Amino acid sequence: MLVSFRLGLLLLLLAAGSLPALEVRFDRYRADSGVEITRAADQLFVKWPISDQETGVVQLSLAENTPLFEVLAIQSEAGEKRIAEKLRPKYWLTVGSRNLEPQGWNAFFDNPPRRSHETFPWKLTPTDVEVSSAGRSSSIYLDGAAAGPFSGGLLLTFYPGCRLIQTTAVMRTEQDAVAFLYDAGVVSDQPDAWRRFAWIDSHDRLQAVAAKSKDEAEAVDARYRAIAGETEGGSLVVFPPPHQFLYPLDFADNFKFVWRGTGWRKGEGTGLGVRQPPEGDGRFVPWVNAPPNTDQRLSFFIALSGGTTDDALDETKRFTHGDRFKKLEGYRTFTSHYHIEHTLDYLRKQREQQTTGIPAGLESPPFVKAFQDRGIEMVHLAEFHVHHSPDFIEQRLTQLALLHEECRRLSSDDFLLIPGEEPNVQLGGHWISMFPRPVYWLLHPPQDAPFETKVDGLGTVYAIHSPEDVLRLMEKEEGLMWTAHARTKSSFGYPDRYRDAPFYKSDRFLGAAWKAMPADYSRSRLGVRILDLEDDMANWGQKKYILGEVDIFRVMPNYELYGHMNVNYLRLGEVPKFDEGWKPVVDALHSGAFFVSTGEVLLPSFTVGGKRSGEILPAADAKQANVKLQLEWTFPPNYAEVIWGDGKQVYRHRIDLRQEEAFGAKEVTAKLDLSVAKWVRLEAWDVAANGAFTQPVWIE
Ligand SMILES: [Zn+2]
Repeated sequence: MLVSFRLGLLLLLLAAGSLPALEVRFDRYRADSGVEITRAADQLFVKWPISDQETGVVQLSLAENTPLFEVLAIQSEAGEKRIAEKLRPKYWLTVGSRNLEPQGWNAFFDNPPRRSHETFPWKLTPTDVEVSSAGRSSSIYLDGAAAGPFSGGLLLTFYPGCRLIQTTAVMRTEQDAVAFLYDAGVVSDQPDAWRRFAWIDSHDRLQAVAAKSKDEAEAVDARYRAIAGETEGGSLVVFPPPHQFLYPLDFADNFKFVWRGTGWRKGEGTGLGVRQPPEGDGRFVPWVNAPPNTDQRLSFFIALSGGTTDDALDETKRFTHGDRFKKLEGYRTFTSHYHIEHTLDYLRKQREQQTTGIPAGLESPPFVKAFQDRGIEMVHLAEFHVHHSPDFIEQRLTQLALLHEECRRLSSDDFLLIPGEEPNVQLGGHWISMFPRPVYWLLHPPQDAPFETKVDGLGTVYAIHSPEDVLRLMEKEEGLMWTAHARTKSSFGYPDRYRDAPFYKSDRFLGAAWKAMPADYSRSRLGVRILDLEDDMANWGQKKYILGEVDIFRVMPNYELYGHMNVNYLRLGEVPKFDEGWKPVVDALHSGAFFVSTGEVLLPSFTVGGKRSGEILPAADAKQANVKLQLEWTFPPNYAEVIWGDGKQVYRHRIDLRQEEAFGAKEVTAKLDLSVAKWVRLEAWDVAANGAFTQPVWIE
């Protein structure tokens, strides 16, 4: 009865040509969030401190068919700088399909761009508006967005002490098996709204072009995944969540993740934004998962600056420490799983140049600089990830000797290049090997080859005929093995399938490696696949760890390495010298003395009852356990979670961090009853889904 009355009223109003004013709900808004949001007629006014001297001002127009961002400005003692007027937020969703048949939502070997797909422009017609607060942030949610099979709304979030506006289209589809991508940005109907666009290119050179109305939009290979627009009043930078945005690929080239100009994707207006390369590296291009009825959060940030584009880009770089893994007292940076194939490259160039020495062009191979530019001190290779033909197998010892020799040559006092492989023999699935010194072993030995042979000039050469041999070798040489890309790719079903095998149960089997894969923007954390696996492995009863892996092929200084990377912070005093071996590195991994980070969130310290990750807390001390962590962050933090298990179940205790401002550090403590726990670990995440996680503390 009531419904039909309302409908009748609506029809009456429609007939009269006037819609009821849009309702804006403020029930969940708190002014003490530090963000002031008020309404007057069809406008919402937002004010928040963006630095000690500056206040951000956003005026939103809720009137139909008007640009949403009526005004973006910065106020200071000097007055108000209008950075932009009448900007429209834009999104485009490219919607394709996921082949769920072989590996479900964990698929990497998939190729939506090769099947039918369509790009839909996104439309926002606000039907309902809600203002809400959480800790030191406030958001405005405008319901009424649609793009193809997706519907949802737009969420704008403001953080006191931070010059970012987080713009998030929250979109869901009921359709099953959807894989998708998004482009986004802001545009003006007035091309002369912009003076110029600027970015730092992938060779670290500042680039700028004047904005012109006839200037066709183009994709740009920007460093920091960031593009700036300069106006009369100041500048703004648009950039995506640094890691979450990039769907997994085998190659980390800079595939041009931003755009600028007029008519992007045949849309109206002139502006700038972020984009995803639909064709990726042309190999496996899995795009992003959108399981049915999940809220996919398609974010980008707008950074406001009263200065030039240079100033604005400098401000933006701070959020990723300039795309470097920050130096942390007491820790050393270690990264793993790179199929650079330097050894094979070296041999091929030697043949081409008919030389027996270092081939021209490889005196100092560019990958070393690429890593050092990102703040990496130790790199663990995964060489010879190629087809193992009979002649390849024949050259095994020569190749290994060269690998070792080159790792020695390219290592220095502050950089250690560690030989390593993804040998993938005997155990099932793909796995990684690491020894504390050069070790010679045959992956495909002749049938009658004994386990150990002495070879002049090389020492012991091992022959591997079985999983038992692999374990024997690892025990003898104090090596480590772990599952590469567990539960996906060629390790689909692993380590689960060999969890009862003696080699898995051995402490020489470290665990598995973590990477932000698959992409799914409904999750507030990355790489959940492996975080869940850690919980499983710990509950299975052995002390297993998860280290960050990157799993890419080439590495060049102009690549988009940082976005694809993560890093392991190892508790280690010095970078070991190659000639002294790197047992301290193996020991740090083996004893769980490390944490993993995407770079923006750091965990300099985490203890439970005074015990660090990898150490054992006596069960008697678990009843009233003091969980203590030191946290550091750049983006506004979201939450930390203490996670523990009793051998069967997993328990979580969430620590809300939304009362903290950007660029901070804090000691957090919690007293928890962990009497059922056999292990406990910690994760911490920020609002851009950057994060860090520890290895478990064991309870016995
Ligand atoms: Zn692999």
